[in-house]
Amino acid sequence: MSIPTLGHWINGAERASHSGRTAPVYDPALGTHTKNVALADDAEITQAIEAAAAAFPGWSSTSITKRQQVVFKFRELLNERKGELAEIITSEHGKVVSDALGEVQRGLEVVELATGFPHLIKGDFSENVSTGIDVYSTKQALGVVGIISPFNFPAMVPMWFFPIAIAVGNTVVLKPSEKDPSAALWLAALWSEAGLPDGVFNVLQGDKLAVDGLLTHPEVKAISFVGSTPIAQYIYETAAKYGKRVQALGGAKNHMLVLPDADLDLVADQAINAGFGSAGERCMAISVVLAVEPVADELIEKITERIQSLRIGDGRREPDMGPLVTEAHRDKVASYIDIAAADGATVVVDGRGIEVDGDPNGFWLGPTLLDRVPTTSRAYTEEIFGPVLSIVRVQSFQEGVELINSGAFGNGTAIFTNDGGAARRFQQEIQVGMIGINVPIPVPVAYYSFGGWKDSLFGDSKAYGIAGFDFYTRQKAITSRWLDPATHGGINLGFPQN
Ligand code: NAD
Repeated sequence: MSIPTLGHWINGAERASHSGRTAPVYDPALGTHTKNVALADDAEITQAIEAAAAAFPGWSSTSITKRQQVVFKFRELLNERKGELAEIITSEHGKVVSDALGEVQRGLEVVELATGFPHLIKGDFSENVSTGIDVYSTKQALGVVGIISPFNFPAMVPMWFFPIAIAVGNTVVLKPSEKDPSAALWLAALWSEAGLPDGVFNVLQGDKLAVDGLLTHPEVKAISFVGSTPIAQYIYETAAKYGKRVQALGGAKNHMLVLPDADLDLVADQAINAGFGSAGERCMAISVVLAVEPVADELIEKITERIQSLRIGDGRREPDMGPLVTEAHRDKVASYIDIAAADGATVVVDGRGIEVDGDPNGFWLGPTLLDRVPTTSRAYTEEIFGPVLSIVRVQSFQEGVELINSGAFGNGTAIFTNDGGAARRFQQEIQVGMIGINVPIPVPVAYYSFGGWKDSLFGDSKAYGIAGFDFYTRQKAITSRWLDPATHGGINLGFPQN
């Protein structure tokens, strides 16, 4: 049986690639190679960027009302057909279908925010700042913007960016992850159905070559990136060198601090949800539970009990947890269990070699619980990005806060307690961008912004919310005087003063 090759979406239609380079796409629950995806060559990269550049003058000067109607139509179509998209995501990523639907829903919320863009890009006006002089500001689109996304949210992460970018008048080239590239093509076709003019939204399939093409092409004015920290740093530095506006969101190592007064049943439930949902392949997943003693033993017992009841299997059958995205990633995640054990951690629950409700060739790794993980171990300091939850025992609130603040990442964190004063202090002292108080995965709603601190975000602009509108527009300040012959100021070579 021949394996289909996915192409690009350029100028309003899917285009076959002629680069001669492809990458394999798998069905992770079956472990089968189901598709190939094209990897763009220089000519295809140029073609996608030029299509977006050619569409910019028309789209950016289309009336606000018309652009708003297209975004509304896209929202309606996506809401009607989100089930289709969820199934596509599961077939390439592996996550459970209901979880994929949740991902689409969170992306949809940004589309809904974007429908309100006319209100959010209004300028200011100050009358008579000096005699007969008015000052006002406008916000205009940038031009072509590049979006580079990771494998773990093939629909939601692109939707953190493109609804706002498009609504305010930019044109887009999206470079999805080569591991699950179909969602982007599906979304592109939906935009066309919604009436978006050809060339406004393009999908360029590819690898580093495509990314570098976006980073260096003079027509690309801004880059939004989400992925691992080393690549985020590279994107930030390279895009900045080429004079582009850039936001580059990186990796994470999120801690949950559990104070002794917390409701341990609630904590155990939430640690399971946040540690093993989407097989731990979430940038806001909880990776480390900091148990303030004396609660560790009791908490471990409760978490272990719950792990035993989790059903692992093919995401299409609605188990609790699906497979990992690729065999290589599964093996890398599993290697951290060896590393932790070699460094002295206790493997309380070992997810290797589990029995699953699915094909034995799938990329499986069961929920794994580690205790007494040394904070010097790579299993503690590095991002694992899989279903491996580490317990680190600490003696006090302060020790927990210091440990979190000493880490390289600053994406998300959570505290579980019934002590409002401790929670308030945590929120003030912690050096992390997104904080949950008795909430394990505090992904902000669409009208707040998403982004971490430290090595979790390079650049000074977060995703969506007001920050998204600021990122995708630039301001002009206009100082205007309509001459009244009676107040003509005559010649004056001094610096203008009011
Ligand atoms: P990745 O960094 O491997 O890939 C991300 C994107 O960069 C992909 O489109 C990929 O094709 C491209 N890329 C990969 N190597 C490249 C290179 N050498 N040069 C240029 N481009 C390159 O990340 P991933 O494995 O797809 O996704 C998982 C990572 O993303 C995790 O680290 C996770 O924490 C992070 N992530 C972060 C957030 C956040 O909001 N901070 C959200 C989701 C995922």
